Amino acid sequence: MLDTNRARSFTVLLLGLLPALPLSRLPAQSPQPRTQNVILVTLDGVRWQDLFGGMDSTIAAVDSNSGIWDTLRVRRRYWRPTVDERRRALMPFFWDSLVPQGFLIGNRTLNSPVNARNPHWFSAPGYLEILTGQFQPDVTTNDDRRYDHATVLQFVQARLGLNDRQVAAVTSWEAFHSYVSSRPNLFYVNAGYEEVPDEVALGPEFREIDRNAMRTISLDESSRNDGATGAVALAYLRTWRPRLMYVSFGETDDWAHQRRYDLVLDDLHALDDWFHELWTTLQGVPAYRGSTTLIITTDHGRGRTPRDWTDHGDDVPGAGEIWLAVIGPDTPDVGEGRDTPQAWQADIAATLLQFFGLDAKEFNPEAGPAVPGSFAPLPTAQ
Ligand SMILES: [Zn+2]
Repeated sequence: MLDTNRARSFTVLLLGLLPALPLSRLPAQSPQPRTQNVILVTLDGVRWQDLFGGMDSTIAAVDSNSGIWDTLRVRRRYWRPTVDERRRALMPFFWDSLVPQGFLIGNRTLNSPVNARNPHWFSAPGYLEILTGQFQPDVTTNDDRRYDHATVLQFVQARLGLNDRQVAAVTSWEAFHSYVSSRPNLFYVNAGYEEVPDEVALGPEFREIDRNAMRTISLDESSRNDGATGAVALAYLRTWRPRLMYVSFGETDDWAHQRRYDLVLDDLHALDDWFHELWTTLQGVPAYRGSTTLIITTDHGRGRTPRDWTDHGDDVPGAGEIWLAVIGPDTPDVGEGRDTPQAWQADIAATLLQFFGLDAKEFNPEAGPAVPGSFAPLPTAQ
């Protein structure tokens, strides 16, 4: 903290001495972001053990612990002899194409810890911590209510002067209608089973995607099917080209609570294919290609054992352990982090804001700092 302050004072001093220097020739410690757009994606309650390790043999070994319906099918799809092969069988695009282009932390077997600051370890406290940059003590339930805390989404919109289409949120869980901003109707939000209005769903293709989304049922009526959410999100992205978009998926948590490890793995595998389509879409649009940063994380972890992997909350050891991926043109291509400093869920807001050149302390004086290594290389790295 002290070091950071000293570095900042030093930068301010330098800027004061060099008022006429063009921005592109500023000292290396204050690089101009190449990022123009950010897409924040959350996958609800995805354990770091499954993300980094693939199919977990300790869970899968006993059917009554895993709830796997067809063991042969799951083994054929996701079981491989090594951890590296298993995680790539589960999320091939994520591991082969996204991670090498960025920075991924949270693998505790590599001493790369990321944790929630909030002590609750369930959804609303986690999402509000991500969106506001701090643990919010008044967020203690998953109730659908609006909180009086500004989010990064509304801060970026206000500071960059973006209109109500240039910032958007498309989510599986309907409660995000309230969580994404402290005031309603600032930007487009499509949360849960909610039809996209005609003035947003321009053209027959978007209309048809939305109609299909409404027909695709899920386990829980308050949370839309993730495939449907992903399709609506991509249709919105292609139509409106938002500068800042939040996409939140939820079924990984739903199936885990049902003790259906096979369907948790299937949802992760399907989400990996969505990331492939998202990335391909971004590369095909000049306004996004080479200038878009992807931030991927989760609201909470889950239990570590074959019995409690289904659950989370303050009484489940390990459920505060999370992970974070940052992929984009300003992030060093270091891949999987090893021996990285402790990072927090409350640091994600500042991590996002740095890509728009915005100061997190101006957003929220209590916000955590940007995660070291997400923008510039770690001091120890080459
Ligand atoms: Zn849950």
